[in-house]
Amino acid sequence: APRTSAELIRADGTALAHNYHPLPVVVARAEGAWVEDVEGRRYLDMLAGYSALNFGHRHPALIEAAKRQLDEVTLTSRAFHNDRLAGFAESLSALVGLEMTLPMNTGAEAVESAVKVARKWAYEVKGVAEDRATVIVAAGNFHGRTTTIVSFSDDEVARGGFGPFTPGFRIVPYDDLAALEAAIDETTAAVLIEPIQGEAGVIIPSDGYLRGVRELTRRTNVLFIADEIQSGLGRTGTTLAVQHENVLPDMLLLGKALGGGIVPVSAVLAGRDVLGVLRPGEHGSTFGGNPLAAAVGSAVVALLETGEYQRRARELGTVLDTGLASLVGKGVTGYRSRGLWAGVDVDPAVGTGREISERLVREGVLVKDTHGSTIRLAPPLTVTGEEIESALDALARVLG
Ligand code: PLP
Repeated sequence: APRTSAELIRADGTALAHNYHPLPVVVARAEGAWVEDVEGRRYLDMLAGYSALNFGHRHPALIEAAKRQLDEVTLTSRAFHNDRLAGFAESLSALVGLEMTLPMNTGAEAVESAVKVARKWAYEVKGVAEDRATVIVAAGNFHGRTTTIVSFSDDEVARGGFGPFTPGFRIVPYDDLAALEAAIDETTAAVLIEPIQGEAGVIIPSDGYLRGVRELTRRTNVLFIADEIQSGLGRTGTTLAVQHENVLPDMLLLGKALGGGIVPVSAVLAGRDVLGVLRPGEHGSTFGGNPLAAAVGSAVVALLETGEYQRRARELGTVLDTGLASLVGKGVTGYRSRGLWAGVDVDPAVGTGREISERLVREGVLVKDTHGSTIRLAPPLTVTGEEIESALDALARVLG
């Protein structure tokens, strides 16, 4: 007999490593902004796979692209060319305005790749002394889970027990141009930041910060690497979050939604002067740029080319923002939102972020807490205004 949700949750607890603490929902099916559990209960997905599902679950155009590609060829490795990759890279370049693409799979791999490229650029182009290159990152950052990436995290839960760490990183306060400028010296290869910090609780820097980072890094011959793995691809109402300040970084990191919620697809984009430092054999990935990933990624880019999803995020973002504003003082102590993305601080007297998230599950709404008393809202960009309002009503009920 098929196992119940309760049985599957127990089985997960025994069979899987405990590196996650999932909310008690066992998803069995999904479509658009909705998921259904094993028993047939329906939930509005207000997390969207941490922005990996910007186009909703099983978007017809993305499923179609994947199915079509499954009947042609799925994997070649980069030992050979494949007929889908060039078109994907060209369309992505045109979408974001950077000329070359390094295709990878997960977000963490894109970050790792960018760090390697920045170091190589520092030695070969900038002339930094051998093994001295540094990368400046921001306090509160989240860039993934590999050994090198947790080396420059300041989250002790992410780091504890995983040393020794990779050297060559400096942490400065986020949203502080003076501190950034003070940290730059002749060893600095790059500044790596999230244009909006996602895991930290959707922390939006002051107006002018990203433009300031752009001007400062240009003036000091330092690469500006924007990690848009969570903020990019329509989430904030523009294709990229950096576009809110009309800024183009030297290196752009994309992931999550680039794979349409179907396959892991990430990419590092940069100009030829930067990505050109990589030569054959120096970097790679067996799955990076595989034809299935490229086909789905191309279909994702095609959705973004219409501007429809960016517009939806912008317009529906005002519904989300207005609704959250009305909850301040009623169990919400503060919030930050841009487009269809919000970090909501709940009054600890009402419950922890985890408890609020669990109560929302019982109301048929899926969100996820981050850092104690903050919950994150990031619905698929296909969500309707009514659905957002119903989620906000549910939030008001569980806070009340
Ligand atoms: N960078 C940012 C800004 C992220 O939010 C994440 C994931 O949450 C990552 C990198 C890591 O991506 P992945 O989990 O695919 O390795």
